[in-house]
Formats: sequence, C-alpha cells, structure tokens
Amino acid sequence: MSRTNRAYRLRRRPAGKVTDADLEFVTEPVGELGDGQALVQTLVLSLDPTNRIWMSDHRGYMPPVPLDSVMRGLGVGRVIESRRADLPVGAHVLGWTGWQELTVADDSALISPFTVLPDPLPAPPSAFVGVLGHTGITAWLGLEILALAPGETVVISGAAGAVGSIATQLAKSQQARVVGVAGGPEKCAHVVEDLGADACVDHRAEDWHDQLVAATPNGIDGDFENVGGPLMDAILDRLNIGARVALCGMIADYNQFGDGSEPIGQRAVGQLLMTRSTLQGFLVLDYAERFAEIVEQLAGRWATGKLRAEETVVDGLENAREALDQLFTGGNRGKLVVRVSG
Ligand code: NAP
Repeated sequence: MSRTNRAYRLRRRPAGKVTDADLEFVTEPVGELGDGQALVQTLVLSLDPTNRIWMSDHRGYMPPVPLDSVMRGLGVGRVIESRRADLPVGAHVLGWTGWQELTVADDSALISPFTVLPDPLPAPPSAFVGVLGHTGITAWLGLEILALAPGETVVISGAAGAVGSIATQLAKSQQARVVGVAGGPEKCAHVVEDLGADACVDHRAEDWHDQLVAATPNGIDGDFENVGGPLMDAILDRLNIGARVALCGMIADYNQFGDGSEPIGQRAVGQLLMTRSTLQGFLVLDYAERFAEIVEQLAGRWATGKLRAEETVVDGLENAREALDQLFTGGNRGKLVVRVSG
C-alpha cells in the first residue's frame, strides 16, 4: 500500500529561535516494508529542551542531528504494519519515532530499538514520555542525587515544567522544605497550590532575588538545577555546608547555541568550594537498567493520585516547530507534547 509521511528535516543549524528554514516540514512517500521492518504511526511526540541542543553542533552528549535528516525525537506510537514478530500490528511502542508521522522500525536503530508498552495501555500515551517516562525518571534520579533529609531546603528551578513539576511533588513527599522557581504569578500559584511547594520564586519578577532570599531563610541544602545562568548563581550563593547540586539542565543557554554568543556561564562556582558542596551532572539515558524499577514507583504514586501528571498538549505535527519555543518562553505547563494522531 503506498503511503505518505509528513516529517521535519533539519536543513541548517538554528541561530536563536528555530525557524521554518532550519526545520523544514516535508511530505514524502514511504516505501514498501522489507523483511524485519515494521511501520510505526506516531501518536504523541515529546518536545524536550534537548531537541534544541541536538539541532546545534554544540558539544553535547549525543552527536548533532545530521543536516537533511529527520529531526530526532522521542514518541509513543502504534504499529500499523509489520514484518517482524516482536512488533505486532496494534502494539503500542515507545522510542525514537523522530519528528514524523510514520517511522520504519528495523534493526538499524542507531540509538535503541522500540520498547513495546503493556497491553492494554495503563495510562494515556503521553504519560510514557511524561510522568511514567523519561521525564518522571529524570525527576526521580535528580532527587536521589540530592538525598534530602526531612526538613532540608531544596530549590527546584523550572518547577512548573515537565521534570520540575514531578520533582517538586516527589521532594515534598520526602518532607523537605521545597522552594520552586517558575515564571510568572500564575505558574507560581500553581507550584504552591497544586504541586505542594512551600514557596515559589517568580524568576520573571524584578525582585526575584529578594524572593529567593526570603524563601530560603536557612540557606539551601539541595539544588535541583534545570536552568543555569544568574538564577543558578544566586542559588549557589546560598548553599549550606555540604549541600548537593543535581545538575539536570541549563536551559537558559540552549536557545543561544549557534548565534555566535558565548555560553552564559556560572560566576558562583567557587561557592561549591567554600561550602564543600558536591555538584553532579546526570543524564537519564545512562540509567536504562533502572527504568522499570523507577517507573513502577512513579506509576504507583500516579495511580493512587499522589502524583499529578501535568501536561500541555499541542495538536498537529505541523505545529511542533512553533510549539518547541514554548520551552524557552515558558509557554508550557508540565510536559509539552504534540498529539500527532489518534
Ligand atoms: P520544561 O521545564 O517543561 O520546560 C522548560 C521550562 O523552563 C519553561 O517552561 C520555562 O518555564 C523554563 N525556562 C526556560 N528558559 C528559562 C530561563 N532562561 N530562566 C528560567 N526558566 C526558564 O522542560 P523539561 O523537559 O522539564 O526540562 C527541564 C530541564 O531539564 C531542561 O534543562 C532539560 O534540558 C533538563 N532535562 C535533563 C534531563 C537529563 O537527563 N539530565 C532529562 C530531561 C530534561 P518558566 O515559565 O517557569 O520560565
């Protein structure tokens, strides 16, 4: 059967905000399946800050997406045609769908093969890239690094976002004093009232630094760092002796990659020395052998209503390029996904 695919191809490396000229939306034919291949229809595409890193040739943890190839991305899909036993028609799968409607799955997967999800699906497809996927797992791992004792103060930047919203709730369940950082009064109200933080710093307010000081009267024992830049410096300046920093992301930098400017950089790294604190960068992809165990923990909390799964859903693959910018302007609340089909 002849089919067409709609996809984004990376035509050039962006400088600042990603444009149509960087990421071209194309319609292309899909060939017949060969032996050992299956056709996966994308249901949900995950939009992640790291997509912007992959588009650039900045030194990252994965090679840059090659020019003219389909944009790399994680998604949840359904097998609609198959010539392989391990991917039967109708199965829901999680994996590297790319920014496209149809993916030919075969053994040439450069990163990792598709994972078949339970049947019937115990949660909406978007949950498998959100609370029960890499997002929730990242929050869990960052909190393990922080090893918070009850009563300790943790600051979580990006607290209204995908990883941050899960980390905020999990940290609260560990009896920590949780201070979220989010953009704008509405998001801050959400972080306190819905996610359970003790306080929230509005990083877009002029007095954000005063707010941070007021919210952390006993200093800071843990920093779940999603942002970097001046905000991170202000947090480092308030670390207590023996504090821990889980360096999850530095989103303040990503949208500048390729525009010729220097990385924002950190001014207050010396405070790690003064306070004998530790900083650990971590990547969720390094912990594949622990995914099942962590997802079981998250699923138990989610299914019993102890963990809210916030998400922002954008309809239509044709809107993915524009939607990505929400991650840098703060347009999203919770996990940002594109509903591609279904
Ligand atoms: P997200 O938090 O849902 O979206 C990004 C949010 O960051 C935006 O909504 C915005 O919220 C905030 N933001 C953007 N630019 C900012 C700036 N200059 N200053 C302060 N806040 C800013 O995205 P996510 O997927 O959960 O990712 C969060 C961080 O975790 C990113 O740095 C990402 O790279 C990292 N991450 C790391 C791993 C890992 O394995 N290490 C895995 C997943 C994600 P406001 O409206 O609040 O400003």
